[in-house]
Amino acid sequence: MGKAKHYITMGVAGHVDHGKTSLVKSLTGIDTDRLEEEKRRGLSIESSIAPFEMEDGIGIALVDVPGHTDYIKNTIRGLSAVDAAILVVAADEGCMPQTREHLDMLGLLGVRSGFVVLTKVDLVDEETLDLAEMEIIDEIEGSFLEGAPIVRFSALDRRGLEGVRSAVKCSAGQVTPKEVGKPFRLWIDQVRSNPGFGTVVTGTISAGSISLEDTVKIFPAGVQARVRSLEVHNRRTTRAVAGQRVGINLHRVSVGEASRGMVLADIQSPSPFRFINAALTLLTNARRPVTSRQMLRIHAGTAVANARIFMMEKESLKAGESGLVQLRMKTPFPAAPGEKLVVCPLGEHRISGGGRILEVTGEKFRASKAPRLLPYLEELNRENLQGALENLLPVQQRRLLSAREMADRTGFAADEIERKIKAMMRKGKVVRLRVERFIARESFDGFMQEALHAARSLSRDFPLKSHFNAVEINSRLPHPLEWELIEKILDDLAARRMLLKQNGGYIAPDAHGSLSDTQREIVMAILTSSANAGLAPLSVDRVWKLTERKFLKNDIRRMVNYLNQKNKIMILNDKRFLSPGAVEEIKSRVGAVIRSRGAFTIGDCKQSLGYGRTVAIPILEYLDTIGFTRREGDIRVFMERNP
Ligand code: GDP
Ligand code: MG
Repeated sequence: MGKAKHYITMGVAGHVDHGKTSLVKSLTGIDTDRLEEEKRRGLSIESSIAPFEMEDGIGIALVDVPGHTDYIKNTIRGLSAVDAAILVVAADEGCMPQTREHLDMLGLLGVRSGFVVLTKVDLVDEETLDLAEMEIIDEIEGSFLEGAPIVRFSALDRRGLEGVRSAVKCSAGQVTPKEVGKPFRLWIDQVRSNPGFGTVVTGTISAGSISLEDTVKIFPAGVQARVRSLEVHNRRTTRAVAGQRVGINLHRVSVGEASRGMVLADIQSPSPFRFINAALTLLTNARRPVTSRQMLRIHAGTAVANARIFMMEKESLKAGESGLVQLRMKTPFPAAPGEKLVVCPLGEHRISGGGRILEVTGEKFRASKAPRLLPYLEELNRENLQGALENLLPVQQRRLLSAREMADRTGFAADEIERKIKAMMRKGKVVRLRVERFIARESFDGFMQEALHAARSLSRDFPLKSHFNAVEINSRLPHPLEWELIEKILDDLAARRMLLKQNGGYIAPDAHGSLSDTQREIVMAILTSSANAGLAPLSVDRVWKLTERKFLKNDIRRMVNYLNQKNKIMILNDKRFLSPGAVEEIKSRVGAVIRSRGAFTIGDCKQSLGYGRTVAIPILEYLDTIGFTRREGDIRVFMERNP
């Protein structure tokens, strides 16, 4: 097996007792009915694997599956990893229920090549053989085996064995080998554990490769484990690749941490979620429709779980119909996008449909999400990577994705994704960030507008600040963005002169906050002086005298007006001004006099405000204009009866 260029798994399927195990034995010399119970009952319970090397360097493993309906779970597990199929039909019985069921199963599992072996030809005459063959042609019509060779064979006298061999070779040639370049992945279908040699898990590598000392994760739990030794068909090796069936001795993994139905995967693989978005097709012979919220039994890889189904498009699926669905499991399910699934009605040994896993997600499907999500899922289902990517990035919105993450999400290879994304970048559809993470141009531009808006509103609220840093702008956004993204957005805004870069921060050029340094100093001087002046109004001259640096008086006047507009100071009729705090204090003192004596007169000024009529009159007039007081002859009363 070591010299083979690539490895293929071929399923040997068909009704119980039709001669599957005998065919495998004739081809490989191996008796796959090795379990004691199997020997005793004379039928296969577990799937067994027999290696079979073709002379042209293709390593083939034959999976002999149980035909009996009681072991349907094992049959699906066994067929889940196969690339091609041999459908076995006994000449003396012809097509039987499991012939059909295995054919359906293989189709749902995505098998596309194979052939039929008509066995036990020694038991019947020529006419019966012709009849059986016609029956088979009818049965496989419309399936992936339509038009495939039907080889006549007898395990008794080995008639047709060469024909079977060349048909194996021919269908193996039609298979696209599993991808060695992808991250490592294997569905565990057997675990042996004993104190002497530790824990050995077995399965077929569905992608990538594994070597001695590699660290992998066991999903769904995500337990880490190191590879102590590797075995392929009972031979020690240092590396095994996609398509090979391998036994992996894991360092310090306890019983229960690894079991059938779990996945062994590359250490960087994402943790599984509880929900699966899938394209589901019901078999034409499904007995009942599937409706939303119904419970089903789901098989994927070597795992089985119960799931509640939610329809995404129509309320139910009838026999022969297809649709997008969400399957909700109780606990995280280690399936990956691109893998196939088979569904069974709860509590019945019968398959009713199956399909392709499009997404494994933590997000519940809701009708409101359909407009964004469905186009993406449809492209994935069509296996159109370009279309899927164009729809994925907008679905993501604010999440940046690396090619690897997109590969994990879609099931396509990362290098293929990288090529497509680079082409999309050249067309301006995608923006790349420093560390090779991507976002749709459309979303990026939207966030750019939001950031600009945030910078402007900050400038309005804090007119005296010369700049705002990325953290301040980010926290102003409706939803803060990842650090790398907001940085890139602000850089781009600065490059386009939509924001100005200043002191390591940013400022909107057209915002009121964009005062010059001198203007900001004048503002500070005005505000400081007026705060220190207490209840006495200030003039421009007074500010000019108080400040060390001699600004132009006209410039001071301009900034006084500017601050008046922003309600940072209040200008009186005589052009002097007060701080808002001073106005409040004056209001409360004047108010106290009115409340105790019924009115406030010019004569009260000296005592309650500390200055005489010349200074006080513009202030009292100001209180009239803001509607606090009302003048009646020489006195002032409240504008309102009871403020
Ligand atoms: P499976 O259940 O499909 O694996 O069938 P087996 O390979 O276990 O065969 C079932 C029975 O049919 C056994 O008793 C076999 O000896 C017998 N059998 C298998 N192939 C042939 C054949 O080509 N000719 C005859 N006469 N008997 C066969
Ligand atoms: Mg058998």
